[in-house]
Amino acid sequence: MTARIVIKAGRERSLRRRHPWIFSGAIATVEGAPGPGETVDVVDAGGRFLARAAYSPSSQIRARVMSFDPDTPVDAALIRRRLERAIALRRRLGRLGDDRACRLVFSESDRVPGLIVDAYAGHLVCQFLSAGAERWRDEIVAALAELLAPRGIHERSEGAARRKEGLESRRGTLFGAEPAEPIDYRYGGLVRRVSIGHGQKTGAYLDQQDNAARVARYADGARVLDAFAYTGGFALAALAAGAREATLVDSSKDALERAGADAAANGLANVNAIDADVFDELRAMVERRESFDLVVLDPPKFVHSAEQIQSGSRGYKDVNRLAMHLVAPGGILATFSCSGHVDAALFQKIVAGAALDAGRDVQILERLSQPPDHPVGLEFPEAEYLKGLVLAVH
Ligand code: SAH
Repeated sequence: MTARIVIKAGRERSLRRRHPWIFSGAIATVEGAPGPGETVDVVDAGGRFLARAAYSPSSQIRARVMSFDPDTPVDAALIRRRLERAIALRRRLGRLGDDRACRLVFSESDRVPGLIVDAYAGHLVCQFLSAGAERWRDEIVAALAELLAPRGIHERSEGAARRKEGLESRRGTLFGAEPAEPIDYRYGGLVRRVSIGHGQKTGAYLDQQDNAARVARYADGARVLDAFAYTGGFALAALAAGAREATLVDSSKDALERAGADAAANGLANVNAIDADVFDELRAMVERRESFDLVVLDPPKFVHSAEQIQSGSRGYKDVNRLAMHLVAPGGILATFSCSGHVDAALFQKIVAGAALDAGRDVQILERLSQPPDHPVGLEFPEAEYLKGLVLAVH
């Protein structure tokens, strides 16, 4: 018999709105002894069906909904249909191709909770980040192999999300060929190289591809500072768009080396890479009274939980204040936050505080967000994490 989760009276409301997370505090009882990732029926206090979910015994998010339909079994066929839909969307967006990179599956937003799949020129990199995704790993790999006939399917199941689910880190090739690293892909007229075995996350930050192209429209003739550059997505797009020179700052020496190699492969010169802490380096630049026509700030996630909102906000404010000091009068600052807990309104407030402290008069020119291959389920606002402001700094 399928195990059951009975939801406390009144706590079923979010499920009725089709929010896919069931927190441990909303559960009255668990009937049966479901194992990690096992499918459970979710019922309200009166025993009425609400959803079918994957059980995560170690996580605060105790179960993630796989289906709200009482007549739909959670099986390999369901997983396959979800993957088909995700693939069809990326195809429709024009992002699938032998020489392209995109996010192919975005977890809850594509109705496969806990599963991330990034595609790099025919290689797929998967992250199985919940007990449910882990349970369906073989079926997921088989369906991806059949639907896309990729060169290889690889795993980078790592990081905090997996630890919270009580899962160990794991990586390796699950299907097809080991990648001949680095893998080349194209974006915005540039050849990019990614090392899916060694890079951060799945290899690249695909969520900033579109934004790099957008921000590059301000780059003609500019001296550019790309802070938290990783492999220089913003800097290289800016140089390709006519920037005079670009300074990259990142604490990953390896990423900076790859940025330099990518710049050379694209015939782009005038790249200056600084392996340093951004806070320290920007402070030193302010002291030296340096200035740039275009500054990009793309820090890592500073806020990982509601408790960190205050301390994280201070981090964002500090780094934005330093950046504003470095923008030449009338220059541009493109500033981002990828912390889901910091929403667009709060981010704007933080940046306004930084402008005040820096004594700069600042206008918002554009608001940026995540690209369409990182969709947001309407009932799942948690998926909306990336926000950016393009600012004129006077
Ligand atoms: N802008 C990049 C993605 C940046 S991800 C792109 O478009 O591809 C965040 C980057 O910040 C990572 O490369 C990480 O190495 C770097 N980083 C994190 N903390 C840092 C710090 N305190 N100082 C410098 N770099 C930092």
